[in-house]
Order: sequence, then C-alpha cells, then structure tokens
Amino acid sequence: MAQVDYRTDGSTAVIAFGNPPVNGLSHSVRSEIAAALERAAADTSVRAIVLTGKGGMFSGGADIKEFGTPAALRGPNLRQLIELLDMSEKPVIAAISGTCLGGGLEVSLAAHYRIASADAKLGLPEVKLGLLPGAGGTQRLTRLVGVATAINMIVSGEAVPAKMLAKTALLDRVVEGDPVAAAVELAAAKDFAAKPLRRVRDIPLVEPNLEALCEFARNGVKAQFPNLPAPVRCIDAIEAAAKPFEEGLAIERRSFVELMLTPESQSLRHAFFAERAASKVDDVPESTPVRKIEKAAVIGAGTMGGGISICFLNAGIPVWLVEANKEGLDKGIARIAGIFDGQVKKGKLAQAERDRRMALLTPTLDYATIAPADIVIEAVFESMEVKQQVFTTLDRVMKPGAILATNTSTLDVNQIAAFTKRPLDVVGTHFFSPANVMRLLEIVRAKKTAPDVLATTLKLGKTLRKVAVVSGVCDGFIGNRMLEPYTKQASYLLEEGATPQQVDGALEAFGFAMGVFRVGDLAGNDIGWSIRKRRRAERPDYKFSTLPDKLCELGRFGQKASAGWYDYPEGPRKPKPSKVVDELIARHRQEIGVTPRKITNAEIVDRLVYALVNEGAKILEEKIAARASDIDVVYLTGYGFPPSRGGPMFYADLVGLYEVRRRMLQFGRNPHGEPGFWKPAPLIERLAGTGGTFNTDKGAAS
Ligand code: NAD
Repeated sequence: MAQVDYRTDGSTAVIAFGNPPVNGLSHSVRSEIAAALERAAADTSVRAIVLTGKGGMFSGGADIKEFGTPAALRGPNLRQLIELLDMSEKPVIAAISGTCLGGGLEVSLAAHYRIASADAKLGLPEVKLGLLPGAGGTQRLTRLVGVATAINMIVSGEAVPAKMLAKTALLDRVVEGDPVAAAVELAAAKDFAAKPLRRVRDIPLVEPNLEALCEFARNGVKAQFPNLPAPVRCIDAIEAAAKPFEEGLAIERRSFVELMLTPESQSLRHAFFAERAASKVDDVPESTPVRKIEKAAVIGAGTMGGGISICFLNAGIPVWLVEANKEGLDKGIARIAGIFDGQVKKGKLAQAERDRRMALLTPTLDYATIAPADIVIEAVFESMEVKQQVFTTLDRVMKPGAILATNTSTLDVNQIAAFTKRPLDVVGTHFFSPANVMRLLEIVRAKKTAPDVLATTLKLGKTLRKVAVVSGVCDGFIGNRMLEPYTKQASYLLEEGATPQQVDGALEAFGFAMGVFRVGDLAGNDIGWSIRKRRRAERPDYKFSTLPDKLCELGRFGQKASAGWYDYPEGPRKPKPSKVVDELIARHRQEIGVTPRKITNAEIVDRLVYALVNEGAKILEEKIAARASDIDVVYLTGYGFPPSRGGPMFYADLVGLYEVRRRMLQFGRNPHGEPGFWKPAPLIERLAGTGGTFNTDKGAAS
C-alpha cells in the first residue's frame, strides 16, 4: 500500500507521507518521498512542493523497527533524502503538525520554508539514546534558532511547542488551523517560486559569544552528566555550525558514528528496546482477548493502597477504596486528597481536574459494594493470615470474571490464589513505592493465572502508565530477590572496612540514583529487619550480617527517625555521616573479629553489581524472568540502576561474562562473608565458557 500520497493543488505538488503510529521514516517511506520529489521536479506545471505527514503529525523520526538493521542504511537513507530536499530546485515547504521529532525534524530543516500548526511539537531527542542528531540537525537547527536555543533543545532532547519557536527563523509561520492549507497558500503567492531559494545551509551563523557560550554549556553538562559523552559532543557539533556547512556536517557525522559505538549509547538504546520488549509474553500472544477494566477496587488505604488508587484515578477509572475501619479509611482518603492538593499547589494539576479525580473515588467499609468491580487490588498488611481473610472474602463477593490481584512483595502468590475457588483469576500486581510515582510494575504470574488475566493486567499497566514486567513466583520476585544479595554484600563491605558514605559514593559515581545505604534510610531500615527476622526463623542456616540489625536496635530506621546509616540534622534530603554509626561499625568489627582493610571503589561497585548479576542469572535459569532485558528493565525503572549502564545484565554482557566470572571467583577467595556466595550461576559458567551474552542467549530465553 502506498504510504505517500501525491496530489497537485494549482501549481503546487502536495506530498503527504504516512506510516502509523508516528510516520516513522522507514526505507519504503523514504523511497516513496524521493520518488514523489522526482515526479514534482519533472512536472513542468509544478512550481513548488509542500511536504507533510498524514494523520495529524509530521514524523516521530526514524522507524524504530529498522533500528540497527540494514534497512536503516538502505538508499535513499535519511541523509540522502535530506540532500534531495535541500538541493531541490523548486522550493519545498514543510507543513508541520503534531509530532516533529528527530529525523522528522531534520527532514523539515532541509525544506526551504516551514509552517507549523500551533499544536506542533518539535525536538531532537537523540541525546536520550546517547547520540546526537546525525543528519544535519545540529548544523541546520543552530543556523535557524541560534546557539543558545540549539543547545537547550539538543542537549535536553525535549520537544518544544511551535508557539515557543514562532519568533525564530525555524518557523516561517505558526497557524491555528491546517498548516497544509497555509503552505499551499504561501506557495501560490505571487512571485513565490521566482524568489531565490533559501537553503538553511547557506545561512551564516552569527554569534559573537560562540566560544564562551559553548564552553559554559560544556562545563555545565560535564558536571551534570559526568558519565555521558553525548551532551558534550552535541555542544561541540553545535559550535561547529560556525564553520563552512560541509565541514560542520563532517564533524557532526564523525561524532555520531563514534557515539554509536560508546557503551553509554549502546546501553541507552538497549534500555529503550528492553522496555518495549517487556510487554511481550511468548505464550500470551497480542491477539489474546482482554477483559474490560472500567471499575476498580483497592483493599487497604495505607501507603500502597493510596498510591495505587491514585494511579487508577489519574487514568479516569473509578475506584472503591476499602478499609478495615472508619479511622483508617478517613486517613487514607485524606492522604490521597493531600497528594492531589500538593500537585494543585505546585501548578501541576488544575483544581477542577483534582475535583474530577477525587469524585471518582468511593470510600467504603463494606466488601459487598465492590462486587461489580472488574479488578480488585489487595494492599493490606504483609501477613498470610490477613491475605487469606481478604481473599476468602473477595472470592465470596466479587462478580464472576473479576480479576483478583495482590500487591504482596514477598508472599507466595500461588498460596494466595489457592485461598479462592478461582485461582485462574488471581495475579500479582507488585507496585513500587510511591505507587503513583514509580514507573515499574511487576506482574506476578502464578501457576494458574489465566492468559487473558495476564494480558489484561499487562494492558492495564499501560493504561496506568507503568512499565510492566512479568515475573514468576519466587521469594521477592525479580527485583527484591536480587536486592537481597546486593544488600548482603553492602553489609559485608562495611564489616570489612568500608563506610556507608564510601559505598554510596562509589555507587553514585557509577551512576546509581542513590547508594544502597541512602536507599535503606529512605525506605526504612525496619523493612529489611523484619524480613531478616522471618528468614532467620524459617531457615536456620540463613546468613546475613547482624550489623543492620544492630542499627535497627538503636531505632535508627532511617529518614522517618531522622537517623539511620546517616544523621539527618538538616532534613531528609541532607544525609550527614554519623559518628554513632561509625562507632557501631567499629564495635561490630571487634565483636566479629575483623581487622578493617582499605577497600577500593572498584571492588565496591563490582561486588555489588555482580551480586545482582549472579542472582539475575539464576532468575533467568529458573525462568522467573523471560529474558535478561526484563531484569534490566526492573532495575532501570524500579531500583535506580543507571540507564547509561543499560541494567545489570546488559552491563555484565558489555564487561564480558568471562571477566565477570573471573572477578566472582576472586571475591570467592575472600575469607570474609559467606561460603558459596560467589559460586557463579551455571548460566554464567556456560556463557563465560562460550563467549556468550545474557541478552543474546537463546537457551536462557526459550
Ligand atoms: P500499610 O500498613 O501502609 O497499609 C496497609 C493498610 O491495610 C492499612 O491501612 C490497614 O488498615 C489496611 N488493612 C489491613 N487489613 C485489612 C483488611 N482486612 N481489610 C481492609 N484493609 C485492611 O502497608 P503498605 O506499605 O501499604 O503495604 C501494603 C501491601 O503492599 C503489603 O502487602 C506490602 O508488602 C506491599 N508493598 C509495600 C511496599 C512499600 O514500599 N510499602 C511496596 C510494594 C509492596
């Protein structure tokens, strides 16, 4: 089917291209546009050309299906198409509405005029994939909007509304209505075609403070993104726009090619595709029917129940909120209202919208009223007895076909499902705190969960604007299960000689949003304490440093107690190294008979990250996760793993599993810690031996 329409309007050829969902510039689209340009060039009755996108948008850029495939480079490639437009002897007007991003904006920059609708958004988001615009974007945009705006747009990667760009030479006109009609009108104006062609490449860049501006910006991005090479290269390329066009273009090109090969860009691109792959489940094809979710219920109006309710309300889905007593219910509702009110105060939410969302919330103490809900999510105390009581009730009251979901973080979802006579309808929906903010949603597939329940929950994840990853049933699911060996190693590092601030500093320099001890203080050290107590009771051979328990015995639960691994004399955001903790650690070392040694930051990072990797490998082997990239998504979206490292599994792949295994064996020779901890998972043994990687291994994924 033709993706490009060609028509004439008087002496103007109108070329409209379409490739849903975002008019991606696939090889076939590029070829058809090129053919249409040739046709217009050959038609002597055509004096001007209007280029536009179909379906209310210009283009979202490259076709992601072609990313990294030969089709992306097949002629006419993007740069060749841009050259055709630029060199057209008849004037080309780009008529832009909706999205105009990346390669899409670069195409429009090669036109001789641009008319945008007021609702259009224009941007060059390549930096988000660790790249820069590689088809002339840095050279042409800078000539049109000036150095400062070009830096803002290209380094942030954010799209800018056409209205904000109306005064720049980027847009010749911003119109309220249809930009195509305005473009045709412009083309039909007297003398239009007779005017000399305005090629962006010929516009000289005049910026007396070029060097100073660029140096200032470079210093800023180096401080802000110390682990990312792309922002600096963007500024270098922008600065090169002062050179002759072809010279600047060559500098941009070289940077693009070099950035493509950096581990940072490889990691960011991996993260981008990993998120898209996560919603796919092999034995639940996209054609699986889904149940309708129009009404929801949440049980428990505590921290999680409140946040989960907000997710539904934000999506326009009415929610019944159930509590055990009136006091808890009132408190829960007040907390939800408080969160919305905070957003209104900050100007992030209109009062009317806040009222509309609150009106969708129905508090109740009576389970019978929630019977018509299409899904119910339980978020009560983490106790099997309480869960049993709730699920037995839900089984009794809920309509047939309702999905019964649990937000448990550690309990066995198979056991919870068995409390009901409808285990096919039971699934885990593990939200992360704060549930209305965190993007990750682990969907826990129990033994009997029906495929349509899984498909519906995955779809619901999208509706609630979450990144959903499917996990099998195991203690801690994917994320928290991996966290245990990670926190275990962190405690051993303190016993052996590190300080909390050294460990956190090393992790944060690696790129983690927050070090492990700061996270502990934020989440509450008592959570891990109660899990360890349970584990010690269940498994007599369970080994974990007793240091964090001693911290909790002092009541140092973290930020909520103004004391944890750090002191917080100036509030929760300002952790200060604690003398009390230093003394506690020193005493603990004496008690366990350890003489502290100097530990390097490299050892800290390797031990903590490889602890994640080894557990991740076991999770893959056990098929708790379907693919290595799902594990990466969990850590990137739920645990602050640096996107520029691609997630623990991808990072290990880049380091090389041979090296990862070698380091693990080296750590295994450390007499401190736990025998057997560093035994590489069989999957690592196999892949290290064959030079394989987690992300390409078919054995683990199948
Ligand atoms: P919470 O203590 O803040 O809230 C639990 C609420 O459930 C309380 O308001 C309580 O009154 C109510 N409740 C107890 N029994 C009930 C019953 N029979 N009927 C109705 N309401 C009842 O706990 P939370 O932190 O919101 O955790 C809830 C669940 O979410 C737990 O399973 C927990 O493991 C899980 N979870 C918590 C987090 C977190 O970071 N807090 C993260 C992910 C998952």
